[in-house]
Amino acid sequence: MKTDALHENFKKLCSVHQYKCTAQRFAVYAYILGNKEHPDVDDVLKCVRKRIPSITRESVFRILMEFSDRGIIYRMDKIVNARFDGIARNHGHFICRECGAIQDFELPQDLPEPDNNPGFQADHVELRISGICAECAKKART
Ligand SMILES: [Zn+2]
Ligand SMILES: [Zn+2]
Repeated sequence: MKTDALHENFKKLCSVHQYKCTAQRFAVYAYILGNKEHPDVDDVLKCVRKRIPSITRESVFRILMEFSDRGIIYRMDKIVNARFDGIARNHGHFICRECGAIQDFELPQDLPEPDNNPGFQADHVELRISGICAECAKKART
């Protein structure tokens, strides 16, 4: 997405969620949406600091939590080493056992309810598959 279009989206989002359109929020938003690596807080911090040297880790974390609480981005782990994803809709993750790379894959959006649902209300589905990625498989063969 072009920066202009991204900034338009960001302004809309700020008015919907009643955020102030700050440069810090925009830098975090732009980075997450343009990134396919499922970055953690420190990855985001490192990159955003190039644009805004004064930003703190706390601010980056707070902004990421703000966005993920509202479903703008998706937070993959709820406890430690949270990773953030610009794709908030249901999708799957392939995780390479060798190099740790995380890749997205599409899932049907109308996923079935769990069988014998004991009463929980599901609102997000994430499927994780682990194995060896194409790059590592190629290295192993050569
Ligand atoms: Zn790999
Ligand atoms: Zn993903």
